[in-house]
Amino acid sequence: MLAQVLSAGRRLLTHSVSGSAEGARQHVGGRRARCAAMLLSLIFCVLVAGIPCRAQSPCQQFVNKIKSLKIERTGLQNDMKDAVAQQKGIIATQIKQLDAQISAEAKKLNNCYRTSDKLAPCMESPDVYYTPPFGSGAGWTVTKGNWDDPVNGHNKDNQNGLQAYAFDFVRDENHDGVGESGKKILAARGGTVYAFVESETGNSSGGGNPPGYTGVGNFLVIKHTDGTFGVYWHLSKDGVLVNLGNTVKRGDVLGLSGNTGNSSTAHIHFDVRTGWSLGYPADKKEYPSIKIHLMDYNHTCWRPKAGDSVLSVFQ
Ligand SMILES: [Zn+2]
Repeated sequence: MLAQVLSAGRRLLTHSVSGSAEGARQHVGGRRARCAAMLLSLIFCVLVAGIPCRAQSPCQQFVNKIKSLKIERTGLQNDMKDAVAQQKGIIATQIKQLDAQISAEAKKLNNCYRTSDKLAPCMESPDVYYTPPFGSGAGWTVTKGNWDDPVNGHNKDNQNGLQAYAFDFVRDENHDGVGESGKKILAARGGTVYAFVESETGNSSGGGNPPGYTGVGNFLVIKHTDGTFGVYWHLSKDGVLVNLGNTVKRGDVLGLSGNTGNSSTAHIHFDVRTGWSLGYPADKKEYPSIKIHLMDYNHTCWRPKAGDSVLSVFQ
């Protein structure tokens, strides 16, 4: 739909430019065409995307390609149902070829996400984009969003709270209300491993386990090139899989999820801070979180809310 709207808009624009030297009447027509093109884009943006449109991200071309290949594959799968035995073999080969093309495009997409530090829709400085801090396995949901989340937010209704722009993601694929731990935690953005704790086993939720435990649990801090810090919380014991000083790219495995610290079920709490004290947690010095946007498989420049499903672009 987007492609159709944009190409319709482009056709109209091309017509208006080519007609501009041919007299005032066509010039007016060109202006009308431009307005029509803008209107078409606006209708698409507001009704379909629900956001004001800006330039497409450089990775969008791979997303579009994968989507069209998948449509083609669905068509072939339908053909397969009605095919006679002789045709089935041919269709199966075609499906196999499409699968190979899809995974080749998926690799290009992953590479694009890893290497594009700034994407057009999120370019207001110092904003950049972040991918979800986990792989593409289904079942990841936001259970707690930002301070302004209508359902469940960190520092609810207090935009100056230290965790005002944090997200909690729970993986609960079997929907039993219990988060699954030991899941791979991926870098939401590239940077350098700046600090971590992985020796904790305690949980401070509901009186503490062991009783009286009040620790923050295990966490990992990545320093970004703009001086901000991505923090990944509640990791499992010995759940850090990188070393201090390592350089990581977006999508690299950092560690394993867990339920340590102030956590009622296994999950990953992710936020981006303006600074990080190497004395933490002993010095209790914390810096505020900043507003970030996520890019997942289905969204660009997205600030998900509690209850939203999130699908990573990485394996
Ligand atoms: Zn949280």
